[in-house]
Amino acid sequence: MSQEAALEVGSRHDLRVGRSPDAPDEADFRDPAGVFGYAHSYESSSRYDGPGLRVVLFLSGCLLRCTYCHNPDTWHLKDGTRVSVQQILDRLKTFAPALKSLDGGITISGGEPMVQMEFTRHILEGAKELGLHTAIETSGYLGDKVDDRFLSVLDLVLLDIKSSNPDTYKKVTGRDLAPTLRFAERLAKIGKPAWVRFTLVPDSTDDPDNVEGIAKFVAPMKNVQWVEVQPFHQMGAFKWKAMGIEYQHNDTKTPSPELIARVIGQLKAGGCNAR
Ligand code: SF4
Repeated sequence: MSQEAALEVGSRHDLRVGRSPDAPDEADFRDPAGVFGYAHSYESSSRYDGPGLRVVLFLSGCLLRCTYCHNPDTWHLKDGTRVSVQQILDRLKTFAPALKSLDGGITISGGEPMVQMEFTRHILEGAKELGLHTAIETSGYLGDKVDDRFLSVLDLVLLDIKSSNPDTYKKVTGRDLAPTLRFAERLAKIGKPAWVRFTLVPDSTDDPDNVEGIAKFVAPMKNVQWVEVQPFHQMGAFKWKAMGIEYQHNDTKTPSPELIARVIGQLKAGGCNAR
């Protein structure tokens, strides 16, 4: 087992690989204790990943393989640093006064925070004890495994709906869309605040019918405060190259302002609060 190590502050744009070579495989990771886990990095002052000022913790492990993923170095637990819940909470405690005074909190992202479900829950519980607002960013793919206890320590879900079309979703992520939609419906049923995030990738997810499908699905959900359009960018391309994995988007352009405006306009016209 890799030794526990200090988790370095950094950025989602840092390339970090091979930190815990003997970590288990993320596909069948089960750890009911959830005292230790694997993390990529954390950022101490995001204003983008939830309300107010946020600490964003990027955990390792993801079961999707999005063709445009900006952080393939978060896919495998073995690339992350092995850290304890206590270590994370000790660090978080030092930020808590500033986060609270700026109406923020912690957002756990990844990778996919639900891969290390118990580890994530323990961090969220600790953050609540510090009086912080809590959020996760998730694809919802493992949403069927989430229990009410997990949801009870979560103030906001940033839910990535990468496509409304099952075929496009499969093509883009390698996985099925249905679990994500089921999780979205469950959040709506219990009134859990959510922001839906949609990555806009030219010639991939930008089809008007695809956008229309997201608007139709989300508009009736009163718990969804925002639908956020996230334009594809090339800032993660260097990671694919460095990791020796084939990247399909070498020639994909960042969406034009006109395309972004069209998609936001479509979502608004469909009844969503979009930006
Ligand atoms: S869900 Fe996120 S971390 Fe996982 S492959 Fe897709 S973009 Fe990357």
